[in-house]
Amino acid sequence: MFNDENNHLFCQRCHQKYLLNDNRWKCACGGMLDISFNATFNLEKIKASKPTLWRYREAIPIDNDDNIISFDEGFTPLIDMKINNKRLFIKLDQLFITGTYKDRGASVLISKIKELGIQKIIEDSSGNAGSAIAAYCAKAGIDCNIYVPESTSVAKVTQIENYGAILHKIAGSRKQTADVAAKAAEFSYYASHYRNPFFFQGTKTFAFEIWEQLNFNVPDTVLIPTGNGTLFIGTYLGFKDLLNNNLINKIPKLVAIQSDKCDPIYQMFTQNLNELPSIDQKPILAEGIGITNPLRVKQIIDIIKETSGYVMTVSDDEINKALKDIATQGLFVEPTSASSIAAFNKYNMSKNEIIVLPITGHGLKTTDKLVKKELFTAN
Ligand SMILES: *Cc1c(COP(=O)(O)O)cnc(C)c1O
Ligand SMILES: [Zn+2]
Repeated sequence: MFNDENNHLFCQRCHQKYLLNDNRWKCACGGMLDISFNATFNLEKIKASKPTLWRYREAIPIDNDDNIISFDEGFTPLIDMKINNKRLFIKLDQLFITGTYKDRGASVLISKIKELGIQKIIEDSSGNAGSAIAAYCAKAGIDCNIYVPESTSVAKVTQIENYGAILHKIAGSRKQTADVAAKAAEFSYYASHYRNPFFFQGTKTFAFEIWEQLNFNVPDTVLIPTGNGTLFIGTYLGFKDLLNNNLINKIPKLVAIQSDKCDPIYQMFTQNLNELPSIDQKPILAEGIGITNPLRVKQIIDIIKETSGYVMTVSDDEINKALKDIATQGLFVEPTSASSIAAFNKYNMSKNEIIVLPITGHGLKTTDKLVKKELFTAN
């Protein structure tokens, strides 16, 4: 249904086009693929649909409903809170079936993989994306190989193994894990959450839900923990779909949050660099965003510029404090998620500014490391 002129894969580098149902995960030239897709919205139908991310069915490029792999996930609560007397909206994306927003991307990507008839996939992750891909592969009956760095938290590794995925623990950095996985994927299908464009067709539903939950309005600002940018880019794509349909009149300011121990996007943006700086591998509390070489960094910076956003960094101490503060309000979150709360604490908010931030991951994901007060190892 979506294989026509307006709907295709295209290469970021050489602009070559492919059908949406082509089962390649990168361009013949090696470049990264993106999706051009005419998302539409049928408001009456949306309002009458189940409260899941699949209520935006016409905006998600899956042909056949029979291929949808779903636990009725999504439409997570958007709650009104006060932190340090400043008001904001918090979106509870830790409530997904695997404990993080990554299920948004996994549901759509694994549905597409089922649609393509692919039987076996490769993915690499610092834990959460691997868990999400493994869970949805389990539901779909697809063979799943997950590559993680040796230092990945016990809770995440245990979760991946219990879903029945084949786990490959790789010595060395997060980047070394990614390199080994990419090599294995030459002979398989790479269900990479940061490379595969269908993952972003799932994370974009984060924006649709915010829009609907704010009574079909956009917030002024969204603060997003950002490593590879799977939620950051997805949020942009979602608001862009709404803008293209004249359902909103602006895209909110998108602010990327990084750890001050692993801040390649911050450095590139503030110093106007053309290439990624080289970042030393250091122990880092926000393990989910400890990415030294985000492949989609140029895309992320273009989005920051287009939305008049910027990048903020936070320290481990600030993250720790934010994690404890928000827990005393009843939300137990993983340190990576607490980074956006730490950023909000020092964010210079204007009067009546409407700010949204996600809780990207559940605190139970990292209890083991919090108990041991261990620092996580950045890639
Ligand atoms: C994956 C993840 C993020 C965002 O990471 P990206 O690398 O930007 O995709 C944020 N928080 C948590 C808990 C995550 O698992
Ligand atoms: Zn190309």
